[in-house]
Amino acid sequence: MIYLDNNATTKPAPEAIDAVLKYMNERWFNPSSPYAPAEEAKRDLEEFRATVAGLLSCEPEEIIFTSGGTESDNAAIKGYAFANMDKGKHIITSQIEHKAVLGPLRWLENAMGFEITHLPVDSRGIVILEELERAIRPDTILVSVMSANNETGVIQPIEEIVRIAHEKGVAVHTDAVQSVGKVPVDIKSWGVDLLSASGHKFHGPRGVGFLFKRKGLKITALIQGGGHERKMRSGTENLAGIAGMTKALEIAVSGLHEYQAKVSALRDALERGITERIPEVIVNGAGAPRVPNTLSVSVKYVEGESMLLWLSDEGIYVSSGSACTSGSLEPSHVLLAMGLDHATAHGSLRFSFSRYNTMEDVERVLEVLPGVVERLRAISPFGKK
Ligand code: PLP
Repeated sequence: MIYLDNNATTKPAPEAIDAVLKYMNERWFNPSSPYAPAEEAKRDLEEFRATVAGLLSCEPEEIIFTSGGTESDNAAIKGYAFANMDKGKHIITSQIEHKAVLGPLRWLENAMGFEITHLPVDSRGIVILEELERAIRPDTILVSVMSANNETGVIQPIEEIVRIAHEKGVAVHTDAVQSVGKVPVDIKSWGVDLLSASGHKFHGPRGVGFLFKRKGLKITALIQGGGHERKMRSGTENLAGIAGMTKALEIAVSGLHEYQAKVSALRDALERGITERIPEVIVNGAGAPRVPNTLSVSVKYVEGESMLLWLSDEGIYVSSGSACTSGSLEPSHVLLAMGLDHATAHGSLRFSFSRYNTMEDVERVLEVLPGVVERLRAISPFGKK
């Protein structure tokens, strides 16, 4: 099996699994209980919080543990909107966000009377900063722009976005789910007010993540109950998940340089091989700064889904740009926003590497993919034979 879909989820690291097991087998006590082993669990929880904060340059009390990226995005966006709607009901985002951001924003628009502006991107997939400056209004309360895109890997100029927004007194949230573990994430120097992350994207367990909330920033909690996580997210803490995620983050951050060198060599070799061997291929996000593990290509005159299925028959697992919603194959909104036409966007594949991949994986894809494309083009209804 060749797994090249690490932006969807990653294989849990053995060290993270060991940490989860330890907290399931031995240290399973409720951190809120009053006896000694529970107090130990509470101490461990706070130690994990301090470790996560230290690895990302923020304060421990600024970390709220959640169930993952989707919850963190919802908690940040709706939580900030509810707490600040007296100041205005306009939020700015981009056209290339993940559904975990677009979904809560659409709900705020439809159910709560907010107005949402979706910033365009250039052909490389980078948010156009002049459009951001133009979009900010007196009633704008929040800007939410992802730090790296899940489909193309394109990195957004977050520090610039923060500078522009803060100059006008507007808070900034960033979905950093695809950045943490792939590029250095320094919350203090980025200057963001809210940041979302998810454990299963960096070899931690699924169902656990965190939200950074700058000290003093007002948000309304979405989940009320026993007042856990400084009243920001009630519910008995998922200590085993948090232990596994913290261990995975420690490994990811300490091995970041090695990881970057390894996966960028694999990604670049695949990119070179594909563009050399297959005519009429577009590398999406070429020319933009990208996270080192992601390659998105659009292969003209073929369907991404068809390539994906043929690769899957060969034991090669990748992703296509389209999302299958209610039976219709919609092309990726990210690639359309970058200016691709529908047919070309339909012919997209995303390869995303992890530290567990090897050059043999790349070689195998390069053995199989050109033949797959040739066969599909031979029967393509799009004209090119
Ligand atoms: N945001 C981005 C950019 C993502 O890529 C994902 C996962 O695909 C999410 C949010 C959602 O994260 P989770 O699966 O932890 O809910």
